[in-house]
Amino acid sequence: MNIQTKVNLAPYCTMATPAVAERLVVVESTRALREALALAQANRWPVYVLGGGSNVVFKGDLAGLVIHMAIDGITLQDAQDTVLVTAGAGVRWQALVDFCVAQNLWGVENLNLIPGTVGAAPIQNIGAYGVELESIFHRLELVRVDDLSAHTFTPEMCEFSYRQSRFKREPGAYVITSVTLRLARQGEPQLSYPGLQNQLAHVAGPLTPKAVADTVAAIRRAKLPDPKDIPNSGSFFHNPIVSASKAAELQARWPNLVSFAQPNGQVKLAAGWLIEQAGFKGQLYDGVGMHSQQALVMTNPGRCNGSQVLALAETVAQKVNDLFGVQLHVEPQILP
Ligand code: NAP
Repeated sequence: MNIQTKVNLAPYCTMATPAVAERLVVVESTRALREALALAQANRWPVYVLGGGSNVVFKGDLAGLVIHMAIDGITLQDAQDTVLVTAGAGVRWQALVDFCVAQNLWGVENLNLIPGTVGAAPIQNIGAYGVELESIFHRLELVRVDDLSAHTFTPEMCEFSYRQSRFKREPGAYVITSVTLRLARQGEPQLSYPGLQNQLAHVAGPLTPKAVADTVAAIRRAKLPDPKDIPNSGSFFHNPIVSASKAAELQARWPNLVSFAQPNGQVKLAAGWLIEQAGFKGQLYDGVGMHSQQALVMTNPGRCNGSQVLALAETVAQKVNDLFGVQLHVEPQILP
């Protein structure tokens, strides 16, 4: 096992908050993962598991052992009317989408261009343009951190809900090693988001997964900053879900409120709209700010540290709460 020491974590954080890992090991198999976890347990080192680093903010240096998940490989299995596609936890989500679209498979096309790795996708049940991971999820493989045993989890065992899962509620308990999706050779595009529908309205003939994926990519590129150009970790807050009565009260005061009724009667508010009304859209404060095209995305062009990033998050959340009486919650994982 090759354990590196005093490792600069810059390549492991798209938000570019500076930090150093006391130790780091790159893991390319389930066996290597178990060895790394066993070593950490024997030495009582705290363990941090990182994938692509697209949903993490470092508040400071990480003592103990950082495990970078690099389990590779994509396989495809035909099963009656569906196709099962399995990818290692270290595969970039984008590589998996590209693979599926090239195979003309339906299911992942709306999730094009989401940063991060396959292993991170179930943790927050990634979603975009009306499709959540759970709708195409078949099963995953994981290792329990406490006894190093390997398990297969079905969708029910993952307890998915809106940008939530069992893995988010039990941080540090499991390490996901692979994910299997259930996709279709024949399918219908999911066009519930008007932006996507409008862009595709002029396409002649039947739509393909590639046409939808390309359109999603074009919309995202026009609106969301590429971390290679401007450090960011995507949406910085969850869209808050409020009661129908709270939403009605807000709607009366704010007729332009952007809200979406949920199947369970609650109402989802667009956090980006709330942040924009609070005056933060496009504002930069000593190197960290809220994006000019989408106020939900915090950008860090000044490569400020985690404390500065979290200070702005607190200021934004406080102002939104003062204005709307709605509490925002930070989406990325804060480490340590
Ligand atoms: P948008 O289209 O400006 O919409 C703003 C918000 O309204 C989104 O957060 C979306 O919620 C919600 N929304 C819009 N149309 C909706 C509809 N027809 N039904 C239900 N909810 C609707 O959002 P955007 O910032 O450009 O993002 C586009 C998509 O990419 C969204 O689905 C967003 O979640 C996803 N995305 C996710 C991340 C991340 O880090 N998690 C980052 C960037 C973009 P939802 O978020 O629930 O879809």
